[in-house]
Amino acid sequence: MNNSLSTTFAMEGFLTNKKKVMFAFTLIITLGFLATSFFSYSVSKNLLQKQITQKDLPLTSDNIYSEIQRDLLRPIFISSLMANDTFLRDWVLSGESDTNQISRYLKEIKEEYNTFSSFFISEKTRNYYHPQGILKQVKEEEPRDVWYFRIRQMENAYETNVDVDLANKDTLTIFINYKVFDYTDNFIGVVGVGLAINHVKDLIQSYQQRYHRRIYLVNPQGEITVKSPGSNFPEKSVFEIPDSEVILKEILTNQDLSSRHQYQLNRSMVYLHSRYIPEFNWYLFVEETEGEAIATIKNTFLFNIGICLTIAVLVLFLTNWLVSGYQRRLELMATTDKLTGVYNRQAFDMFFHQHLKEQNRRYLPFTLLSIDIDHFKLVNDTHGHPVGDLVLQGVAEKIQAIIRREDIFCRWGGEEFLLLLKKCNLEQGCRVADSICQAVREHRSYQGKKSIGVTVSIGVTLHERGEEEKALFDRVDKALYLAKEKGRDRYETATSS
Ligand code: GH3
Ligand code: MG
Ligand code: MG
Repeated sequence: MNNSLSTTFAMEGFLTNKKKVMFAFTLIITLGFLATSFFSYSVSKNLLQKQITQKDLPLTSDNIYSEIQRDLLRPIFISSLMANDTFLRDWVLSGESDTNQISRYLKEIKEEYNTFSSFFISEKTRNYYHPQGILKQVKEEEPRDVWYFRIRQMENAYETNVDVDLANKDTLTIFINYKVFDYTDNFIGVVGVGLAINHVKDLIQSYQQRYHRRIYLVNPQGEITVKSPGSNFPEKSVFEIPDSEVILKEILTNQDLSSRHQYQLNRSMVYLHSRYIPEFNWYLFVEETEGEAIATIKNTFLFNIGICLTIAVLVLFLTNWLVSGYQRRLELMATTDKLTGVYNRQAFDMFFHQHLKEQNRRYLPFTLLSIDIDHFKLVNDTHGHPVGDLVLQGVAEKIQAIIRREDIFCRWGGEEFLLLLKKCNLEQGCRVADSICQAVREHRSYQGKKSIGVTVSIGVTLHERGEEEKALFDRVDKALYLAKEKGRDRYETATSS
C-alpha cells in the first residue's frame, strides 16, 4: 500500500498560507487606506496653512491698512487746506487780535467736515486755539506739548500723530498736524484736525466679525492701542500671549513692513501676520487660529478613516467568506471519493498519521480492517461497469451504517476499503468485521428486476503499541489474503507474533 504524506502537508500548508495571505491583505488595505487618508489630510492642512499665512492674513492686513490710509486722506486734505488758508495766515499776521474769529473758523471746519476736533497753535503767542476759544498755551517744559516742538523741527509739511485729545476729555485721537507758513515762508504755527480712534476701532471690529480673525494695533512697547471690543485676548500687552515673546520682540524691534509668524496657543497653532503702519508708528496684528479652520479638515479625515476601515472590514469579510467557501469545496474534493462519498486514500492517510501521533502521546488500542469485495471483476463482467459502481456504493453505505462516527472509513482503491476502529481491541474489531460480512451478504443491489448480491472478505489486525505503519499494513494485508484463501465471505485476523 502506498500512502501519501504530501497531501497532509499540502492541506496544512494551505491553511497557514490562507492566514498569511489574509493578514497581508488586511495589512495592505489598511496601510493603503491610512496612507491615502493621512496624505490627503496633510495636503489639505498644508494648503490651509498656505491659504491662511500667504493669502488670508496678508490680504486682511493690506485691506485694513489701505482703509486706514484712505481714512487719513480726507483729514490730511482738510489740514492742508487750513494750512494754506489766507484767512488764517492774515489773521495771524494781523496780530491774532479777535479770538472769536479763529474760534468761529475752527468751529466751521469741525462742523463742515465732521471732524472730531480742529485746532491751531500760534508760534508767536503759543496759544492753543480750538472751536471754543483758547484752550491753553503750549510750553516747552510740558511733556504733553512735546509734539508741538517736535513738529517745529520736522522737515515734512505734516505728520499724523496718535495722542490723547486734551480738548476732548483725553480721547485717543489721530491728529493731522500741518505746519503753517506766512507769505514769506516763515513758520507761524501748526494747524490740523483730529479724528477719534473709534473709527479705526469700528473698522477693525467689522473685519474681525466678517473673517473671524483677531485684529489689533500694537505700539512699539507691545501695548495694545486699539482692539475691537469683541476680542478678549490679549488684554493689555501682546507679551501676555504665552510662548511668543521672542517673536513679538522680533516684530517690535524690526520695522519691517510686514512679517509672518506662528506660535502655539492652547494646543493649536496661531498664525500671525504683522504689518508696520508708519502713519501711526504702530503695528497691525492679524491672527488666525488654526484650530477653527482645521476642525473641518480633521472631521473629514476621521470620516475618511471611518469609511476606509468599514470598507476594509467589508472587503476582508467578503474575501474571507469567498476563500473559505472555496477552501471547503477544495478540501471536500481533495478528501472524498467521488463515487461512494466516503473518505479517499489521501484523507485516510492524513487521519491515520494524526491518529498514530496521538497514540504516541497516549496509547489507546485500535484495530485496522481491510475490506475487499469478492469476485468483483465478475460483477463488472456480468452486469456491466455501471452496475459495479452501484454495488460499490451499496457496500460503502452498508459499512457506514454499522461503524461509529469517530471511526475512519475510506475507499482505498478499486473495490477495496480500509476501516480504522478507534479505541477498539481485536475481539471488538472481529465483531464489527462479522457484522459487516453479514450486512453485505444480506444486501441486494438492483438492476431493473434483477437483484445482485456480493460478499466481502475482511482482514482484521490490532495495532501494536509504537508500531510503524508498514508493519501494520503488511499484517492486515496478510489477514485479508488469509480470508480470501479460506473461501471468502469471512474475516480473518493476523497477529504480530
Ligand atoms: P477477489 O475476490 O480475489 O478480490 O477477485 P476480484 O475480482 O474482486 O479482484 P480483482 O482485483 O481481480 O478485480 C477487481 C475489479 O474491480 C477489477 C476492476 O475493473 C474493478 N473495479 C475497480 N474499480 C472499479 C470501479 O470504480 N467501478 C467498477 N465498476 N469496477 C471497478
Ligand atoms: Mg481487490
Ligand atoms: Mg476483490
